[in-house]
Amino acid sequence: MRSRRKTGDKTSTEASDAASVGGLEGGSRSRPLICGNWKMHHNHFEAIQNVQKLAYALSSEDHQHVEVCVHPPFTDLRSVQTVLQSDDIPIALGAQDCHSSDAGAFTGEVSAAMLAKLDVTYVIVGHSERRGLFGESSEVVNAKARAVMRHGMTPIVCVGETLEQRRAGQAREVVSQQIAASLSGLDAAAVVGSVLAYEPVWAIGTGETATPGDAQDMCAHARAEVAQGWGSRAAEGLRILYGGSVKPFNAADLMEQPDIDGALVGGASLDAAEFARIVNHRLYAA
Ligand code: PEP
Repeated sequence: MRSRRKTGDKTSTEASDAASVGGLEGGSRSRPLICGNWKMHHNHFEAIQNVQKLAYALSSEDHQHVEVCVHPPFTDLRSVQTVLQSDDIPIALGAQDCHSSDAGAFTGEVSAAMLAKLDVTYVIVGHSERRGLFGESSEVVNAKARAVMRHGMTPIVCVGETLEQRRAGQAREVVSQQIAASLSGLDAAAVVGSVLAYEPVWAIGTGETATPGDAQDMCAHARAEVAQGWGSRAAEGLRILYGGSVKPFNAADLMEQPDIDGALVGGASLDAAEFARIVNHRLYAA
């Protein structure tokens, strides 16, 4: 395993920054990826305002230390893309979901091909709200992740157990199964080129955060599963995010954990100032 990351500092011994497996580069693990999932909030006028405020709140030093991405609703993507590109703002554009087919009779759906045309970089697949409210299986998540990669973007593949599963002592097993099925059939290069997000369902939108120790434990478990399935180089290079009630006050402790390479933030990303305080968590670390 790589050495423990020190807050605000990149250790030179980190084993696998921007790991390359089979020619496909993963993102740098020493530069956390912090993603704001806006869910079904902010119309396109509000989205423009929010991303402008966020850009104003972040310094070039913040961008040096942290890769920032926002995931607005589909109807906002074109507007946010225009703001980011016309003002040269180094915030990545993300989407919250996509369909696995490139085109077809799928009323109401949006394809990965369409997202790629909007210069989307990251696409969340398998968010627990999609799995829970819309019945998405890991097989569907797998097909979506493949579609995202087919169009040159990076999937953020979400996994995580429910409260009942955790109480029943099944958290590890559930996460192992979700990883195996969601990444099934992908080679090591595709896996290291993806992002995994461990998001315990009981912590999403509840104000309940996993303790840094528990989050680290589960992210380390997820990495070990990837090592077993795709080899240690893929596991060492893979970025794993934690998600579940990340706030400015707990971001630094979570980001400090050796197997946590960033955060997927829901509620706290809706307010630009609050999200900016999460992005520059290192300034608030002890
Ligand atoms: C999420 O939507 O992925 C999430 C983690 O939400 P919240 O931060 O509100 O718990």
